[in-house]
Amino acid sequence: DTGYRRKPEWLRVKLGTTPEAAETRRTMRRLKLNTVCEEAACPNLGECWSKKHATVMILGDVCTRACAFCNVKTGMPRAVDPLEPAHVADACAEMGLEHIVITSVDRDDLPDGGAGQFVKVIEALRARAPNTTIEILTPDFRNKAKSAVERIVAARPDVYNHNLETVPRLYPTIRPGARYYHSLRLLEQVKALDAQIFTKSGLMLGLGEERLEVQQVMDDMRSADIDFLTLGQYLRPTPRHAAVARFVPPAEFNGHAAIARAKGFLLVAASPLTRSSYHAGADFARLQAA
Ligand code: SF4
Ligand code: SF4
Repeated sequence: DTGYRRKPEWLRVKLGTTPEAAETRRTMRRLKLNTVCEEAACPNLGECWSKKHATVMILGDVCTRACAFCNVKTGMPRAVDPLEPAHVADACAEMGLEHIVITSVDRDDLPDGGAGQFVKVIEALRARAPNTTIEILTPDFRNKAKSAVERIVAARPDVYNHNLETVPRLYPTIRPGARYYHSLRLLEQVKALDAQIFTKSGLMLGLGEERLEVQQVMDDMRSADIDFLTLGQYLRPTPRHAAVARFVPPAEFNGHAAIARAKGFLLVAASPLTRSSYHAGADFARLQAA
């Protein structure tokens, strides 16, 4: 087994590049910004970058954790770049973004888990691009979560995302080092601190979860007042990563989406190629206009 199974038709994406995508790449390189699009080897890169939509990954490109599904390098990260917040704001202003998604590696090595840099990035963006809506996708901050979340919420991002990634039964193998209820409580805390902030979470499907387990997670998310849900197909980045248990057909994603809407999520994105940042800006703009 090479570790790669032939992908079904619905997961084949067009490769190739456009002038807009090349410009996005140049901007990121010049401003020394990492993107999760590249680090996670996202299949949507061509499409998103052509639309000048990229997800910036702050706090370096080396993570202190090693999740079984994730392509980001593990090790001892470098010092935090003090110019990073200004560079993120520059990229946002230059690209004229209406919505920006900021994520980070886990920095269990830092006393604040990296929360301070999230705050600085939000502040720099508000100063430089006041009309851009800001979505952040944070780590779980482990035992620093309470104070980290308080600080970030006080900076008032528009959307606070933290992915549950998979059903609780699969945490020990897929997300070792993380705790399901800890992540759920983190999102509940965001909403309790500031009900104006939209909360968002997502799962990768195809890791061996059962349909009813997915519905149980939806119920848990709704009881934590989570507003937006994303569901996408897990793809194995390399043979060293967790195997794909199943390619979930598009119709099954549609079924999950219908159930999720009935359970009261305000926004639901569910398809094989959905990622937490995929079409995030357009979906959020539609919600605000409604
Ligand atoms: Fe980047 Fe998200 Fe688009 Fe993937 S879906 S290319 S991570 S913006
Ligand atoms: Fe990847 Fe995040 Fe896990 Fe780090 S914590 S390995 S960046 S998924």
